[in-house]
Amino acid sequence: MTASVEPQHIVIVGAGFAGFETARRLLRHQRTSTEHPIRVTVISPNDFMLYTPLLPDVAGGLLDPRFVAVPLADSLRGAELIAGHVAAVDLSGRTLEVHNRAGAVETVRFDRLVLTPGSVTRLFDIPGLAEHALGLKTTTEALYLRDRLLEQLELAARETDSAIARARRTVVVVGASYAGAELTAQLRALADEVARQRHFDPQEVRFVLLDMADRVMPEVGEKLSDKVLEVLRSRGIDIRLGTTIDRLTNEVAELSDGTTVATHTVAWAAGVSANPLIESLGLPTEKGRLAVRADLSVPDHPDVFAAGDAAAVPDTTKSDRGAITPPTAQHAVRQGKVLARNVLASIGVGTSTDYRHNDLGLVVDLGPRFAVANPVGVHLSGYAAKAVTRAYHLFSLPRGANRMAVAAAYLGDAVYPRPLVSFGLVDKDEASFARSEGIPVSDGR
Ligand SMILES: Cc1cc2nc3c(=O)[nH]c(=O)nc-3n(C[C@H](O)[C@H](O)[C@H](O)COP(=O)(O)OP(=O)(O)OC[C@H]3O[C@@H](n4cnc5c(N)ncnc54)[C@H](O)[C@@H]3O)c2cc1C
Repeated sequence: MTASVEPQHIVIVGAGFAGFETARRLLRHQRTSTEHPIRVTVISPNDFMLYTPLLPDVAGGLLDPRFVAVPLADSLRGAELIAGHVAAVDLSGRTLEVHNRAGAVETVRFDRLVLTPGSVTRLFDIPGLAEHALGLKTTTEALYLRDRLLEQLELAARETDSAIARARRTVVVVGASYAGAELTAQLRALADEVARQRHFDPQEVRFVLLDMADRVMPEVGEKLSDKVLEVLRSRGIDIRLGTTIDRLTNEVAELSDGTTVATHTVAWAAGVSANPLIESLGLPTEKGRLAVRADLSVPDHPDVFAAGDAAAVPDTTKSDRGAITPPTAQHAVRQGKVLARNVLASIGVGTSTDYRHNDLGLVVDLGPRFAVANPVGVHLSGYAAKAVTRAYHLFSLPRGANRMAVAAAYLGDAVYPRPLVSFGLVDKDEASFARSEGIPVSDGR
């Protein structure tokens, strides 16, 4: 008679692109192998995996938030799911301190730890930013942005003071990388639809897009970047490069070019920084991301692995030895696959490998009838890019029901007007960076 082997407990922190993919792969092993039994636990504050690339579509009222939320209970069958956030990690004691939504604290033990808590919006020490700007990393933030714009346009319609009405009809977006550009394009499309249905000139709604860089979306290359600039400007968007916000109040944005813009809606999409949990570990970091080896293990902690936006993963495709992979979903998913393999290798199943992935390019949806994409180095724009972009997201969404819902919404958008509905379910406090993303924000900001 052989003694039964205790399952190895693998705990994954975070159910985003990297954590979700790691869990999926590990669960396949759990189902098919009896020789090396494992238990897989996923800890995440939400009971869904968020498909962030479609958040601008949620903010623009094109998609319902549930379409971009992939339920964990359905997709990760066999995993133990803990709805909570990890507040502290004891690496030597191999335990995690988990806080659930009711405030209860639970201690979770692990044999192997996978750290994939992602990133949070990168804030700068700009007066008023944390209080008055709105992010785009969570469904709460996306929904609040949508409702905010609809509410401001509604209030402007009844406003007798023309200066206040103009401020309510002005939107400032900071960050002209892909997320900020997509957001601006989607909010513009939403505002255009409001103007069409409520019979006013769409150009009365003013959009100002700012970035410190000297071009929009540098990540798609010069040619496509110029095309994006041209298309966004043709939609009446005031793009100011080499410019950011110096100070923000509830009613005014003071810009670094010395001008002021009266506005009640400022969206901040100026990059990300690693989840605050990483800093609390006290381990070496690079650009705030946890330093890992090319096999995604944490140096001196062979039982701990990390990937995605939270980890500084060496980019072995680059000749520059210090290069790390950029924080994208494309890398996070592929790192999740390697991570699962290497965690299994650490318990004696198969062999470990280094992470290596050549970037496949970006797809960027820029609202009605326009997108840009550079799949495997081929530069596309307009309808061709639109088709590639939408097909890519439908293919990448990891659940059939979500894919169907998104496809139906895209089809509906081609035939029917964009629905103008604001539920007002999210209040400003819930959408704040501190509450929505868990960013520690000092009072003085
Ligand atoms: C608006 C927007 C558009 C984007 N578009 C694209 C795109 O088109 N293409 C692309 O490649 N990338 C895109 N990205 C980037 C992409 O979303 C990230 O690179 C990707 O999500 C990183 O995956 P991750 O698994 O590291 O983190 P995430 O997907 O952010 O997942 C992190 C997980 O950890 C959880 N978590 C956080 N803290 C804790 C804690 N303390 N305890 C437990 N769980 C925790 C979170 O709730 C979440 O479930 C976009 C990002 C945004 C915001």
